[in-house]
Amino acid sequence: MSEKILVNLISKRYQFAMSNKVTNTDEIAELLVYLGRAARGTDAGSDLTAAQWTAMRFFARANRLSRTPSAFASFNATTRGTASQIIKSLMQRGYLVRHQAVDDRRSVRLDLTSSGQAIMRYDPLHNLTDAIDRLGGKLRTALRQALPALAGELAKNRDTVAFGTCGDCRHFSGCGAVSYCACVEAELAPADLGCLCVNFAASEGRKIAMPSLKSKGIS
Ligand code: SF4
Repeated sequence: MSEKILVNLISKRYQFAMSNKVTNTDEIAELLVYLGRAARGTDAGSDLTAAQWTAMRFFARANRLSRTPSAFASFNATTRGTASQIIKSLMQRGYLVRHQAVDDRRSVRLDLTSSGQAIMRYDPLHNLTDAIDRLGGKLRTALRQALPALAGELAKNRDTVAFGTCGDCRHFSGCGAVSYCACVEAELAPADLGCLCVNFAASEGRKIAMPSLKSKGIS
């Protein structure tokens, strides 16, 4: 092989490598997508579809004001029609029940039935939560801080709401055992603090531990 051909070959390979250069940011994004896909993959062969499990987790974790079809559609980044179909299928299977909101007769609230709570024990996402449990404390803390911030940035890009919990919310204030939400102008019960909230507004610098489903007695 002549020297000129060799130089051309190396040069082409270098250009190919540069044009396909994967940055750290790309890698992180791809890993997140991979984790999402891997977690959903474990849904295969279980009683519910991946979409139905997502809905069950949402209604198990969301606070009272957020347990609505439109909040679920927003959380799941799907249309209201698709969200309603998923909810309907879960109601038909007896896992979700619909209540009329006491303060607003036009809106509805969805709750897990006792069968719904029972099936959460078999949530395939436990594979992922177990893997997270096995990480060291520092890594878990770093993920706990980075992921809500990332969810907020993504929501900004998509011009939609970011779901989060009270400890990271600017409407939250707490003093001793008393917690208060300035958005709904009401005191919060301890059980409310770890719930997903559609009124969440990201705040810098506040961090609390996020209670797991286990601590809510439904796992
Ligand atoms: S403090 Fe924020 S997250 Fe908590 S209930 Fe109020 S609006 Fe929702």
